[in-house]
Amino acid sequence: MNLKGGRFLRLFSFVLLGLSLLWLAGGLGSDLLEARLSHSEFEAVLAGGAVQEISIRQNRLTPTGEARIVYKGEEKRFSRERYFVSDVNRLQSELEERGIDFRLENPPVGGDFLGYGLLLLLTAGAVFYTFYRRGLPGGGGAVQIGRARARRENRTGENFGTVAGLSEEKEELAQLVDFLRAPEKYTELGARIPKGVLLVGPPGTGKTLLGRAIAGEAGVPFFSVAGSDFVELFVGVGASRVRELFEEAKSSAPCVVFIDEIDAVARRRGAGLGGGNDEREQTLNQLLVEMDGFTPNEGVIVLAATNRPDVLDPAILRPGRFDRKLTISRPDLCGREEILRLHAANKKFSEEVDFSELARMTAGFTGADLENLLNEAAIFVAAERRAFVTAADLRRAFLRVTVGTEKRSRVISEEEKRITAYHEAGHALLMKLIPGQGPVHTVSIIPTGIGAAGYTLSLPNGEQLFETRSHMLGQIKVALGGRIAEELVFGEPTTGAAQDIKEATALARAMVETYGMSAEVGTVHCGGAEDEVFLGRDFVHTKPYSEATASLIDSEVKRITDECYREAKDIMVLHRDNLETCAALLLEKEKINREEFEALFEGKSEESNGE
Ligand code: ADP
Ligand code: MG
Ligand code: ZN
Repeated sequence: MNLKGGRFLRLFSFVLLGLSLLWLAGGLGSDLLEARLSHSEFEAVLAGGAVQEISIRQNRLTPTGEARIVYKGEEKRFSRERYFVSDVNRLQSELEERGIDFRLENPPVGGDFLGYGLLLLLTAGAVFYTFYRRGLPGGGGAVQIGRARARRENRTGENFGTVAGLSEEKEELAQLVDFLRAPEKYTELGARIPKGVLLVGPPGTGKTLLGRAIAGEAGVPFFSVAGSDFVELFVGVGASRVRELFEEAKSSAPCVVFIDEIDAVARRRGAGLGGGNDEREQTLNQLLVEMDGFTPNEGVIVLAATNRPDVLDPAILRPGRFDRKLTISRPDLCGREEILRLHAANKKFSEEVDFSELARMTAGFTGADLENLLNEAAIFVAAERRAFVTAADLRRAFLRVTVGTEKRSRVISEEEKRITAYHEAGHALLMKLIPGQGPVHTVSIIPTGIGAAGYTLSLPNGEQLFETRSHMLGQIKVALGGRIAEELVFGEPTTGAAQDIKEATALARAMVETYGMSAEVGTVHCGGAEDEVFLGRDFVHTKPYSEATASLIDSEVKRITDECYREAKDIMVLHRDNLETCAALLLEKEKINREEFEALFEGKSEESNGE
């Protein structure tokens, strides 16, 4: 795509437009380059005696005109000074009286009109070009309409070596690289490779970098475009851009297409105030059509990045579109150290700099934040013309990026980290100890960037047709585990458990209202959450039961959560030592996996282990 040419031409046409306007407004050849003399200055020049000749040009319709001075001597022959003449005839007689030579210039026949006409044409051309270049709907032919502003790179400079950390993600993407290197291999076997992978994660965590690395690693072209590039003033332009992008990509297959900030185009359709955005919907529809339109083995892999997966239209996640989702989270301790070392490679550091210490200090930083930190430090060094980055420079840079004006990179304080560690350890402990829950897959105190300070994941144990009562009670207990640990250790609750409490309450309410699991209310259907979904949000939900039942439901929900809380707390008190070791390990490593977690319980009698 001739991006360079396009930009140049657009710039050129703007310059032309500007010049033409200036010319039309004041006359370019005169005002801009020549000085206009006042009457007294003109008088002074005439009196000065250096004048060889005055050349006078009279305007066509009025007696006015202008006089140009031709000085004696070659070097000043072409004067840039001119004088506005209010009455050409009077000036002529005056000059005759004073014995100064003058020459009358004839205005070129139709000269002005010819000039203006030409300018008008140029201007019109420039305007036409400028707008058409950006794309008007329905056009075509000679002018290129709606050229996608995609950037094509035949070789990106990145490969998996320039991406630090993210080893699991790279492993998962290695398959795509292999496919891009030799699509035939997969085609022959009839293996289906995902067409699209959605990279989800906070800004600066390396999504773009990963995309480029895949293309670089496979040695295939990389097309990148931002979702916002598709959103244009004119309806239909975005859609035609999408079409062209995919045409070009298909003709260069195998290749990688990277759509950054896809949420700009792929927002849930029909959402938002004041009706939908036609343009965006058309663009999104076109994107879906294109994704459906090529077969998986054509060798085009579409990667898209977003940090707002919640606003995406579910249609883009359907099979055959972005059917794989890869979450890129902020780096953990090891990841941060790797990133620091990678970006430190091209700078000189003094011996005393301890990268593992620096990684420890920068909990919550993304890859981009870390890169920025090192860069800030290097700037101090360069400004003072020193040779090495010292630990003091890094401290200064750290202060600057954390408490600086913008406060973009938020560090998590030690205290917050401690609370989060106990909170997550609480969830994890109960997940392990309550029969039927767990096993624990990952526990992390790295903020997700989507509101949570940490998370505890269980290994999903396949599809289940139904839930048992005891399993649901177990889920409620696990959900309350975070809050229980906070209260147990710090003697005070925090706001961090809001989502957990909401979840626990919803579960308890469903047990009572929908599943008939409360003896007090009985096996009576009370119209739970399901009905509301079918009725739609706009309907007023009328309760099909009496006020007495309503308060009974409320008290049952409270009884269930209260009991769960008590029982779960008993378990935690009993296993306080494991809570402590788990929290300590989390504080040390920030993220622990199944083996590391299980190791905490080794050598312990398995009294209430439900695994
Ligand atoms: P995103 O697209 O997720 O917003 P980028 O890929 O643009 O983030 O990352 C911005 C910069 O941060 C990269 O150019 C790189 O310098 C640095 N960076 C982020 N993550 C990593 C990483 N895992 N390894 C090395 N550098 C990284
Ligand atoms: Mg990016
Ligand atoms: Zn929690």
